[in-house]
Amino acid sequence: MPRTVTVVGGGAIGLSAAWELSQRGFDVSIIDRSRTGKATSWSGAGILPPANRKISSDPIDRLRGLSHELFPPWAEKLKLDTGIDPGLMQCGGLYLAETPGEIAAMCGMTDYWQELSIECVPLTSEELVAHEPSLATWFRHTSNAAAWYVPDEYQVRPPRYLQALAAACLKSGVRFIENTEVTEMRCLNGHAQAHYRGDWHECDSFVLTTGAWTGRVAQSLELELSIVPIRGQILLLKTAAPLVNSVINMGHRYVLAREDGHTLVGSNEEEKGFELGTTDTVLESLFQFATHLLPELTSAERVAAWSGLRPMTYDGFPMIGRVPGIDNLYVAAGHYRSGLHLSPGTAVLIADLLSESTPRIPIDAFHVGKQQRSNTAHF
Ligand SMILES: Cc1cc2nc3c(=O)[nH]c(=O)nc-3n(C[C@H](O)[C@H](O)[C@H](O)COP(=O)(O)OP(=O)(O)OC[C@H]3O[C@@H](n4cnc5c(N)ncnc54)[C@H](O)[C@@H]3O)c2cc1C
Repeated sequence: MPRTVTVVGGGAIGLSAAWELSQRGFDVSIIDRSRTGKATSWSGAGILPPANRKISSDPIDRLRGLSHELFPPWAEKLKLDTGIDPGLMQCGGLYLAETPGEIAAMCGMTDYWQELSIECVPLTSEELVAHEPSLATWFRHTSNAAAWYVPDEYQVRPPRYLQALAAACLKSGVRFIENTEVTEMRCLNGHAQAHYRGDWHECDSFVLTTGAWTGRVAQSLELELSIVPIRGQILLLKTAAPLVNSVINMGHRYVLAREDGHTLVGSNEEEKGFELGTTDTVLESLFQFATHLLPELTSAERVAAWSGLRPMTYDGFPMIGRVPGIDNLYVAAGHYRSGLHLSPGTAVLIADLLSESTPRIPIDAFHVGKQQRSNTAHF
């Protein structure tokens, strides 16, 4: 009999883990309180910056590097298995700076990337304009403008990525239990149980992939103060054809165009608890940012705006591992600004753990207990 696994939460992390586990022979169910693939992961921009697993010593960059290696074959397999193209594209990233602080930060970033053998090329004005003609006006009118090109940056289209993951899960036999909230987890004799549809349920292993809501699902795990929701807003514009090819990054904000001319402008960081929604002030500042860089966007159609809740942890590392003191409860949550990018790597690590094989990269830094207020779970 294959071992049963219940994955609680069907975002990029849960769907990826469910897909990987089912391919390794586990009997997988995925539960979501709504429909899968409609929460934070849907709202993300889908930027996948470069990384290098082999050289990185920083735990999160190692995980990013693992995911970065896995993403192209992962996306290709999704496309082959389901016929849904997740829109993975190596579009490159442009990093712009116009204040002394931004230039200093980019110089630091360039040094760091060089240590990791990640290509990051400073551009002259001619090279920048040859690369992205739509940035010519910005460069001409900005006295301290500086730009760097990073070829190994990708974009993926989150709604399509999630659709493909869900279809791939269905195809490999994952059972979907949607519109079903897990209201509490408890532990009996070291073994976890989940409460949903009015009853307590057991299985061989549970994996909590509930993103920003992870603390709320298992209150007794005391993760509520460890995973903080950070709201981010996105503005969607549309032009007849894409104005830029690369992801245009400046500080924490960015503009990227899809092949069909849809242009995403993001983002900001706000602490508003679990409240979703957009505000005129933030959307206007995103619009001003985008048109400052790309004046042609002034006449673009404003198509939509949305927000999402990034799951932030105190040390910036996600939690990936077994909950101390409970033999069959695992957590994979807290991926903050990078959960789409980190989804294949996280899925492989969770599947390694459940298969009792050595994880592909060291995972000590992602230990679940360390972020709790106390070191053991109190069920
Ligand atoms: C504006 C914005 C831009 C971003 N851009 C990027 C980017 O460019 N690149 C990148 O890599 N990342 C990006 N991110 C971050 C990324 O979106 C997140 O890190 C990622 O989506 C987290 O995935 P997740 O699966 O953990 O959470 P989610 O996608 O939120 O999934 C959690 C799931 O759990 C379910 N759930 C919750 N509670 C329960 C319960 N009690 N019972 C059952 N189900 C439950 C929810 O319904 C949901 O489906 C961005 C985020 C935002 C907000």
